[in-house]
Amino acid sequence: MIDRPISGVLVDIDDTLLDNKSAVRHAISRIAAAYLPSHTDIDEAAAFFRADRNGHYRAFSRGEIDSRTQRRLRAEDLHAHFGGPVFEDEDAVVAWITAFDDAYREGWALHDDALPFLAALDDLGLPYGVLSNARRAQQVAKLAAVGLSHVPLLVCVDDFGFGKPDPRVFEEACRLLGTAPGETLYVGDEFDIDAAAAVRASLVGVWCDRPGAWERRTDEEVAEAGVVRVGSLTELAGLLRSPST
Ligand SMILES: [Mg+2]
Repeated sequence: MIDRPISGVLVDIDDTLLDNKSAVRHAISRIAAAYLPSHTDIDEAAAFFRADRNGHYRAFSRGEIDSRTQRRLRAEDLHAHFGGPVFEDEDAVVAWITAFDDAYREGWALHDDALPFLAALDDLGLPYGVLSNARRAQQVAKLAAVGLSHVPLLVCVDDFGFGKPDPRVFEEACRLLGTAPGETLYVGDEFDIDAAAAVRASLVGVWCDRPGAWERRTDEEVAEAGVVRVGSLTELAGLLRSPST
């Protein structure tokens, strides 16, 4: 339950508005066809890539390594695990990233509940914006591709050189939205870096725990973090009220 009045909403992009899981799977299926043995299980490879067990993306979102480096390291981990080749030079890395990006872009699509959710926020008179731990250039292109160019893209990882879960990211997004953190709701698909981090930054933190999501948490963990769990954006829309009522 949402325990206080809400006057603004911040929304994560990947796997919250946009079905990133399917887009990554599509990209990995192309990568597998070009680089990995023919018996490679695409779902397993996509899950492995997304899990990023060595934390390269987290290191990138903390500002410790650049985007190119985190992508090369994740590609190398994937190849090492599934039997792909070692990159011989920088050109080979660039070719891999280009192949991934081309397929990834083809896979960009919104979750079915994304547009109705944003329409519900409009109906309620709640201002909203998005924030993301990905690079701004990519997220601008992504929002345009799915028809959401009009949605304010408040903060991306390159704005500060680091991203969520740092509370300064949420505070800046609230400042740009024009709402105090204590009356702002944030919804994202990752328990720690989205919902729990938002709570630590004094926002209402909502975890969008879609069916078939990557992450599992117990009710005790959710309650202990002070997080609100919903199964869809439709469910979240049903919990919101107009600030004027
Ligand atoms: Mg996300």
